[in-house]
Amino acid sequence: MLLEIEHLRASYGKAAALEDITMHVDSGELVAVLGPNGAGKTTLLKAISRSVAGQGRLDFDGASLHGLPAHAVVGRGICHCPEGRRLFTELTVKKNLMLGAYLRNDRVAIERDYQRVCELFPILRERASQIVSTLSGGQQQMVAIGRALMGAPKLLLLDEPSVGIAHRLKVEIFNAIRTIREGGVAILMAEQDAQSALRIADRVYVLEHGHVAQSGTAAELASDNRIQQIYLGVA
Ligand code: ATP
Repeated sequence: MLLEIEHLRASYGKAAALEDITMHVDSGELVAVLGPNGAGKTTLLKAISRSVAGQGRLDFDGASLHGLPAHAVVGRGICHCPEGRRLFTELTVKKNLMLGAYLRNDRVAIERDYQRVCELFPILRERASQIVSTLSGGQQQMVAIGRALMGAPKLLLLDEPSVGIAHRLKVEIFNAIRTIREGGVAILMAEQDAQSALRIADRVYVLEHGHVAQSGTAAELASDNRIQQIYLGVA
């Protein structure tokens, strides 16, 4: 197992956001985390990247993540593409992408990864010297995913990659996520669009009130009408 989580809890002050989460991600897997607003999806990703504190087992690649500052988690191979993208909107596309490699000094590999990001999202090569704030929301999401890839992750955390994005770019982004997985990077993706996530994920966890309410392969969940109706908002 690449990522192993057992009885993970996290809270904001006295309010619990994660009550008891047990889950795992294997090397090279694409795992989706679904669930309604406020279920704890963002908090789960933040607890893994150590931008919020959590209690419970949190092991990555055979060692605990507890006690590590967020930048050390990146060094261990976990890159987080956060909700809301958090880009440097007054810098160029290329500068934003290169900032994703700030902990690396392997120049040749950094250039190779930059070229790979540009192959994944060709529009970013065309717009390399454009200021990010002038791009569409979908293009900015591509920059955010590309920046996370520039950290050379073993595990990519994606928070709501399709939120607020036009349909055509959304399809492109989901295809790119599948391509990233095929390239050997494991992905843990929080997503509101359950149907799109089920189409590309290997396995799925459905969160509800900080608990895992359901889990299984994407094929199992997609073919279970009861789960679709209760948890995934399908009439
Ligand atoms: P969404 O899809 O709306 O982002 P989510 O499933 O990602 O929802 P979280 O954002 O992880 O859920 O929120 C889990 C719980 O923690 C919610 O009850 C939310 O109100 C609360 N929460 C999240 N962030 C904070 C914060 N900074 N301070 C206090 N409470 C918070």
